[in-house]
Amino acid sequence: MDNCIFCKIVAGEIPSTKVYEDDTVLAFNDLDPQAPAHILLIPKNHIGSAGEITPENSAVVAHIFEVAAKLAAEKGFADGFRVVTNCGASAGQSVHHLHFHLLAGRDFTWPPG
Ligand code: AMP
Repeated sequence: MDNCIFCKIVAGEIPSTKVYEDDTVLAFNDLDPQAPAHILLIPKNHIGSAGEITPENSAVVAHIFEVAAKLAAEKGFADGFRVVTNCGASAGQSVHHLHFHLLAGRDFTWPPG
């Protein structure tokens, strides 16, 4: 997708600190970490947001959660981590390519602000 920064990261046109990659999923460190560990997990194929998940494209979402669990366990955060996606501007979505924030390494409050 033109002008999508996460598609450009997938294509290698913008650098990222990769922590995981396979055929369908890429995970890399967030540029502006909000916790000691802050990893973004994205589908390689462009999906705009959680609001665009359909029966046709949803398999990658399950896979992303498998990868999130694996990364949290590998990094020693299996006991406590947060996975969140912001959908739409009013929810704080700033990059319009579906992504899940994996946050860990500190305590989190609920409800989020
Ligand atoms: P959201 O605001 O939920 O859409 O999250 C977008 C996230 O992408 C923010 O946490 C940004 O810090 C992060 N971000 C934006 N550009 C980059 C980039 N080039 N590399 C890594 N993280 C980025």
